[in-house]
Amino acid sequence: MNEYDLADKVALVTGGSRGIGKAIALKLARNGAKVAVGSRRKETCEQVADEIAEAGSEGVGLKMDVTSEEDIEQAVDAVKEKWGRIDILVNNAGIFVQEKVDEMDTSTVDKILDVNLRGLILCTKHVVPTMKEQRDGKIINIGSIASFVGFQSAAVYCATKGAVANLTRELAMELGQHKINVNAVAPGMIDTAMTEDLLEDEDTKSSLLKKIPYGRIGQPDDIANAVAFLASDESEYITGERLIIDGGWLSK
Ligand code: NDP
Repeated sequence: MNEYDLADKVALVTGGSRGIGKAIALKLARNGAKVAVGSRRKETCEQVADEIAEAGSEGVGLKMDVTSEEDIEQAVDAVKEKWGRIDILVNNAGIFVQEKVDEMDTSTVDKILDVNLRGLILCTKHVVPTMKEQRDGKIINIGSIASFVGFQSAAVYCATKGAVANLTRELAMELGQHKINVNAVAPGMIDTAMTEDLLEDEDTKSSLLKKIPYGRIGQPDDIANAVAFLASDESEYITGERLIIDGGWLSK
């Protein structure tokens, strides 16, 4: 079903091989967009591209490790070569590590910062010139409710997601004059590989459910639906927004 008209739009989704990113890639494609799917695993991204083709749009799978500036530049060039433009960038790639700060290896600190923050900044840096030329673009950053509330033993992850919220506001200010919208989506607890271990434990799951007034864990499509709206022309005057999608968790 086409909820939004994304025909003729070209999207690049980072971390699109599974979970929320995959759901976003498929949702954008089902609404008519051509979608480049990037992650560290090219073959898995190509499988998502095959699903996009089955859904009636065009897709391409790319090796795009967001910790590698070379990968990012090559991916951006590949999308421009194939389709000539980039209208939508979804900065979704992210990793979650739950460890106390004094017990965390410095290499793990670096990794979280590299993927969740530096990667997002570099993807934006390399896509923005194209969007400026077009005088048109939508950047959607996948943050977290961890931008706004604490999680036990996840200080470094929460710090990166707090930074994503602030970066979104600042980039909206910087890029509005170029008709580039920058928004963030802040998911609550979503059922993906990232949260598999937490949700497998029945006690943890039931204590999490108690925090969610809506009474269920979120699904990747709950996030993808909002991203499709933010990627569409229907959201033209929305920028700098941090949209919380958490089944009411933060309202309690
Ligand atoms: P998953 O672990 O299921 O998926 C993470 C994705 O990121 C995978 O496609 C993975 O692909 C990719 N990825 C990891 N490292 C890199 C890298 N260096 N370069 C490129 N891609 C990478 O997680 P979710 O789908 O749950 O999370 C997606 C986003 O949503 C993340 O930013 C996360 O922080 C955020 N989020 C998730 C929540 C949840 O409850 N699930 C809650 C709040 C926010 P590959 O392994 O193929 O490289």
